[in-house]
Amino acid sequence: MTIKNAHQVDHVRSINQANILEHHVNLHAIAENNPAFKSFIDVAPDSDFPIQNLPFCVFKTGEIMGGHIGSRIGQWILDLTRLEQEGYFQDTRVSGKNIFQHATLNPFMAEGKEACREVRARLSQLLRDENPQLRDHASLRKRVLIPVEQVHPVLPVDIGGFTDFYSSKEHATNLGRMFRGKDQPLMPNWLHLPVAYDGRSSSIVVSGNDVRRPMGQTKPDAEKPPVYGACKKLDFEIELGCFIGASSAQGEQIPVGAAPDHVFGMVLFNDWSARDIQSWEYQPLGPFLGKNFCSSISPWVVTLDALEPFRVAGPAQEPQPLPYLQHERLWNYDINLFVELQSGAMHQAQVISALNFKAMYWDFCQQLAHHTINGCKMRPGDLFASGTVSGKTRGECGSMIELSWGGAEPLRLSSGEERAFLEDGDRVTMKAYCQGDGYRIGFGEVTGTVIPALNAGQPASV
Ligand code: CA
Repeated sequence: MTIKNAHQVDHVRSINQANILEHHVNLHAIAENNPAFKSFIDVAPDSDFPIQNLPFCVFKTGEIMGGHIGSRIGQWILDLTRLEQEGYFQDTRVSGKNIFQHATLNPFMAEGKEACREVRARLSQLLRDENPQLRDHASLRKRVLIPVEQVHPVLPVDIGGFTDFYSSKEHATNLGRMFRGKDQPLMPNWLHLPVAYDGRSSSIVVSGNDVRRPMGQTKPDAEKPPVYGACKKLDFEIELGCFIGASSAQGEQIPVGAAPDHVFGMVLFNDWSARDIQSWEYQPLGPFLGKNFCSSISPWVVTLDALEPFRVAGPAQEPQPLPYLQHERLWNYDINLFVELQSGAMHQAQVISALNFKAMYWDFCQQLAHHTINGCKMRPGDLFASGTVSGKTRGECGSMIELSWGGAEPLRLSSGEERAFLEDGDRVTMKAYCQGDGYRIGFGEVTGTVIPALNAGQPASV
């Protein structure tokens, strides 16, 4: 951060102080995370959405056409747009701001971490089993609690910038081995900075949307000219996405220690990828059309506060990065991740990968510090994706290209079919949760089905 005035000096001082206190006193001091809290709404122990989670979403129903802001508990959506209209946030710092009278979370995200914390605390109070305010108010319950099956979640955020990192050492090593050989799988910069490219936000969709197989230019035969046609190596990538809340000014650097104050929350992210298009186009400027035809996110934005009890130390970094990337490495998260595949011929989905987020080499604090080291501005609703998550074994790989080792070792499905890459009709579903003692903090799922390319076999229009 470029220090411009006394207020900012205090801000930096308080952040540093907070970090020190946090580290030495109590990592899990957020009252709403108390595992003993129960709601008057029944929540199954394996639900992703107990009273300790309370993520944020935007939804529509048959009656609510324009989009309302909600939270989720168990199998219910709590309508924050209506709660605000009835004055239930008057004792918080968003009082009078009509912050939930929008069809996106952006204005709420822009208010920063404390506003989010107060609203989550208010929701937790309202849903607590000992509080009669909502529990015993039948007509209010009818107005603000909606069964999840009656709700259509929509894209919760107006996503401005989208940056895709490449922060799993295991994934980067696997791809490096496949494309450049086993002697030097990582590029020379990889251990010194969190590598990324600026992606496209316009084609990010919410879970449930189909993904259409893209058309494009590929070079399947090294000895022949490139060809135009439907992608033949369609893939997924399991990642976590971080949404920026509080903004930064153009020219300002966000110090690594202040990064958590700028992140609103996280979603599951499927970065659909066309490997054959990507491998021909990516040099020298990086991914383009092989990546930006579609990415999918889960609808429920889980706050960093809800994830706090599952914060863990990241792996040691060797060589030590430059000072602007150094901090106490306490910002990784113990999140279990699963990828399921169901072909058109299968009656139920099959888990094809089970892995964990906690070993990521670069954490989001380092990503944000690096992204702003040149003064690049951050806006509420900007999205960072972590990069494909992978573990050390084949069953922990986060993409088809790794699971089938470039297509050379296809997966065998329970239907007897084989898969090197995704076929039309394949449905990919990703799930994620943190396992607490008797409860889970989960992300729900992000799912999408591959549908056939448009105009496959036709020449590109001129
Ligand atoms: Ca990616």
